[in-house]
Amino acid sequence: MNAPPHQLIDGFGRFHDNLRISVTDRCNIRCYYCMPERDVQFIDRHEILSFEEIEQFVRVAVSLGVSKLRVTGGEPLVRKDLHVLIRKLAGIEGIRDLALTTNGVLLAEQAETLYDAGLRRLNVHLDTLDREKFRQITRRDDLPRVLEGLDAAQKLGFGPIKINAVAVKNLLEEDIVPLARFGRERGIEVRYIEFMPLDAQGLWDRGKVLTADDMLARLAAEIGPLEVVPDPDPRAPALEYRFRDGIGMIGFIASVSRPFCLNCNRIRLTSDGKLRYCLFALEETDVKGLLRSGAPADEIRRVIHETVNKKWLGHEINTAKFVAPPRPMYSIGG
Ligand code: SAM
Ligand code: SF4
Repeated sequence: MNAPPHQLIDGFGRFHDNLRISVTDRCNIRCYYCMPERDVQFIDRHEILSFEEIEQFVRVAVSLGVSKLRVTGGEPLVRKDLHVLIRKLAGIEGIRDLALTTNGVLLAEQAETLYDAGLRRLNVHLDTLDREKFRQITRRDDLPRVLEGLDAAQKLGFGPIKINAVAVKNLLEEDIVPLARFGRERGIEVRYIEFMPLDAQGLWDRGKVLTADDMLARLAAEIGPLEVVPDPDPRAPALEYRFRDGIGMIGFIASVSRPFCLNCNRIRLTSDGKLRYCLFALEETDVKGLLRSGAPADEIRRVIHETVNKKWLGHEINTAKFVAPPRPMYSIGG
C-alpha cells in the first residue's frame, strides 16, 4: 500500500496504518496463558485513559494515516459504557476499519448497543467447546455465555466474526477440529494463535507452542484438503486457508513459527496511555502526560513518529537474545 507523504513509515519502509487500543487491563476471566489466577495487580483507574483522551489520540493518529482500529484489553467489555467509545471512534472520518477483540462473556448483553454504535467486526476468543475444559483454561464457568454472545452477534448481523483460539501444545490438539467444524457450520473463521511468550506467569517455552504446520496437518487429515487464500492486504498477519469443499475458512497467527514482522503495520496504545511499536517491545513512550497536559496535536504527532522511527525489524522470539517484555498480554493489549 502506498503511504501518503509524511506518514508513519519506519526505518524499514513499513507504513503504519493500524492502531490497537487497549481500554482496560481488567478481565472477567483468567485464561492461564495470559493472567495469573489471583492477586492480579491492575492499573490504578486514574491512570486509565478516558474515552475523550483515546478519541483525541486517535484523531491525531488518523491525521498520520492510521485508518484501522482494533479495540482490545484486558477484556474490553468490562470497561463501562464501551459503546460510547465505539460510537466516537466509528464517527471519526478516515477510519475505514473498526474491530473489537473480546472473550465474549458479556457479548450477549452488549451486542445490540455495540452494533448500534457502529461496530461490525468482532473477534471472539474461544479455545474449546467443552465446558469443563473451558473452565480449566479460564478458571470460570462461562462457556454458555460466550456461545450466547456469538449467537446474539450473528443474529444482529455482525460480520465478519472470527474466533481466536490460543494454540498451546498438549492443550488445544483435541479442540482444533471441533472448533473448525463449528466455524464451518456457523460461517465463522477460526484463527489459531500460536502461544506467545506474553503470559503473566512465565509459563511459555518453545516446546509449548502448537505450530501452524501441526494444526494444518491435523485439519487436512480430519476434515479435508485446504488451500491457501491470498489476503487482499499482503500485510495482514494471518495465514489464511479455505477448505477445498468450499465450506469455511481458517487462519493462523503464526507469530512463533512464521513471524510476520516484515509486514508489520501496527502500533499499540495501552490502557494507561503508553505507545508501543511492538507487542514485544521492551520500551514504550508515554502519551497520557501529553494528552493530560493539553499538548498540541503537533507534539503528539512528533511522539508517534518518534515511536515508529524506533521500531525494530522484528521480535526475536526465535533467538537466544529474546527477552520477554515486562508487561504481560492483558496489560499491553492483545
Ligand atoms: N480479552 C479479550 C480476548 O481474550 O480476546 C481481548 C484481550 S486478549 C489479551 C487478546 C487475544 O490474545 C485473545 O483473543 C487471545 O487469543 C490472545 N492471547 C492471550 N494470551 C496469549 C498468549 N500467551 N499467546 C498467544 N495469544 C494469547
Ligand atoms: Fe482475559 Fe483475554 Fe487474557 Fe483471557 S486472554 S485472561 S479473556 S484478557
